[in-house]
Amino acid sequence: MIFKILFSILIIHTPNFQTTYDIENNIGHHIYKRDNFDWLNHLKPAQEAVSEIYDFIIVGAGSAGSVIANRLSEVHDWKILVLEVGEEEKYTEMPLTVSLLQFTKYNWRYFMERQPGIALACENQRMPWPKGKALGGTSVINYMIYTRGQRFDFDKWAAQGNPGWSYKDILPYYIKSENTALKNNVDYRYHGVQGYLRTEDAYQSEISNAFINGLNELEIPIVDYNANKSLGVSTIQGTTSEGKRLSAARAFLHSVNHRPNLRILTEAFVTKLLINRETKEAYGVEYERFGVSNRVGASKEVILSAGTFGSPQLLILAGIGPKEHLEELGIPVLKNLQVGRNLQDHFAFLGLSFSTNQYVTHHFSQLLNPYNILNFYINGMGPLTGLGGAQAIAYIKTSQSKEPADDPDIELLFIGTSLAFDFGLVIRRGMGITDKIYNAVFGPLEKTYSLMIIPLLLHPKSKGYLKLRSKDPHDYPLFYGNYLTDSGNEDIDTLLASIRYVQRLAQTKAFAKFNVTFNTNPVPGCERHKFDSDPYWKCCLRFLGQTLHHQVGTVKMGPSEDPEAVVNNELQVHGIGRLRVADCSVIPFAIAAHTSAPAMMVGEKAADLIKTTWNKQ
Ligand SMILES: Cc1cc2nc3c(=O)[nH]c(=O)nc-3n(C[C@H](O)[C@H](O)[C@H](O)COP(=O)(O)OP(=O)(O)OC[C@H]3O[C@@H](n4cnc5c(N)ncnc54)[C@H](O)[C@@H]3O)c2cc1C
Repeated sequence: MIFKILFSILIIHTPNFQTTYDIENNIGHHIYKRDNFDWLNHLKPAQEAVSEIYDFIIVGAGSAGSVIANRLSEVHDWKILVLEVGEEEKYTEMPLTVSLLQFTKYNWRYFMERQPGIALACENQRMPWPKGKALGGTSVINYMIYTRGQRFDFDKWAAQGNPGWSYKDILPYYIKSENTALKNNVDYRYHGVQGYLRTEDAYQSEISNAFINGLNELEIPIVDYNANKSLGVSTIQGTTSEGKRLSAARAFLHSVNHRPNLRILTEAFVTKLLINRETKEAYGVEYERFGVSNRVGASKEVILSAGTFGSPQLLILAGIGPKEHLEELGIPVLKNLQVGRNLQDHFAFLGLSFSTNQYVTHHFSQLLNPYNILNFYINGMGPLTGLGGAQAIAYIKTSQSKEPADDPDIELLFIGTSLAFDFGLVIRRGMGITDKIYNAVFGPLEKTYSLMIIPLLLHPKSKGYLKLRSKDPHDYPLFYGNYLTDSGNEDIDTLLASIRYVQRLAQTKAFAKFNVTFNTNPVPGCERHKFDSDPYWKCCLRFLGQTLHHQVGTVKMGPSEDPEAVVNNELQVHGIGRLRVADCSVIPFAIAAHTSAPAMMVGEKAADLIKTTWNKQ
């Protein structure tokens, strides 16, 4: 205590105090600025000593953070530190077995809180909300589907007071990242060949023709869905390299981790952002590694890329969040901003499965076939390269759509198998589906060849939120999806319309060619409604509606006049200096894309913005 008081007196009387910085050993302290002589306050320094100083600290090496680390370390005289709590991935190469990854240490294993009338098919009515905890973040456990979002999304994003984020502005970043090997329906004007991220055509089994040709019958054209097209259908573009999973870390970090100015620490859990209470500038972070707590400084900026859940958690812990929530937690308010609110997600429906009597789908036996295994490991080809069964995507507009022009309101994701693929052992458990529901609805499909079409609500009107359980950084936040709660019932009506659309699709000649039969096993709990009536399907949506893990918006981008905004169009936290957020959390609303490629785009753009700020373009 005496030491603390003496230390406080010393720094109070030293307006610009800086201890020595040992560049050789990379040990130093940050600058303390003292203008205001408030004695009580100064017993606690506004800024704490740090042991090492880098130019930039990146928190989280996920889809966005990996890109930023790569691009910033291109500047030789910048020293970059990346702190990632997860480990480097091992044995994750095989795309078809992706669902297993949710049961590894690479998943945080978050769950949504129990909410009325939703996740009724889930154990304890709690929907799993997996997120990646590894070098590479969620790209280590995701389904590798490469989608960018539609022109409408980005033009709306920019029009909300975010110059620089229109389609025209962001397209170059997608192209910059990419090194394409796509061949199916590809419009090369929209794809890159010099980036780090390999994109390849997803494995197709014969049954995907039913989906694509069936949609053609419904006048949906075949397009390159990543090439400024709105409505259309296509085989999936995936982030694989020679058929193997390609996480953001494998794409963006492995090739550059020899750079002497880039230091990547895995198993480093950031517990606190260090922000000078007087200048309101970030100057470092505190992190735990192997049981030891450390403080490191950033002489230029701290960049938060801890994802849609991790970034808001760290902001709130630092006193940047909704005032009433901070007070409830006993955290002094540094800046009253709506962190954690505006959580948006694509709600999807798992209740549309089919069977066929033809062996034209993915089937469990493929995993046991030695030829397939050799073909995968030697040639990077064959069914084991399948993206967890996902084969094709369509963007459609339902009869309920209120979206402008050709802006789709639903994505149809075609899976060349179903939850019955692994006899209920893994996939459905990753979704938390109970034995009772699985056995009744999907169990009978185990004896057939099965397929699924998953409609995804692209622009949900319902908004969720997250808040902290406590001020202990180790405690998981509390998550509330608030699915299907919009006052106008637009979300449930649009999903119902998508079910009717899929039923029409199932009537096409293309489906008949494969003897595809709709799975009519009723969902237990919904039998009280007449099968196939609107109330029946609305009930099913509350049982088998699920996240596809595209949560965004908890650190919303927007101008300072926007009461929900947390960062500006340059990703800087409003009212706080030297602190940017760059990951899915800044995406202001749910866009028509699975969110890994958009996170990478945010990463590319963040790196450019940072280079511009510090004159290194
Ligand atoms: C099962 C699943 C399937 C998916 N499938 C697809 C798909 O096919 N295609 C697609 O485009 N998207 C998919 N997504 C979504 C997509 O992968 C993610 O939205 C995207 O990767 C998020 O990128 P990010 O950079 O925002 O965050 P992340 O990639 O999640 O990175 C955040 C990183 O920060 C780390 N971190 C968090 N807190 C701390 C801390 N305090 N200290 C240190 N490190 C910390 C985390 O461990 C993590 O590595 C899927 C998601 C899931 C869960």
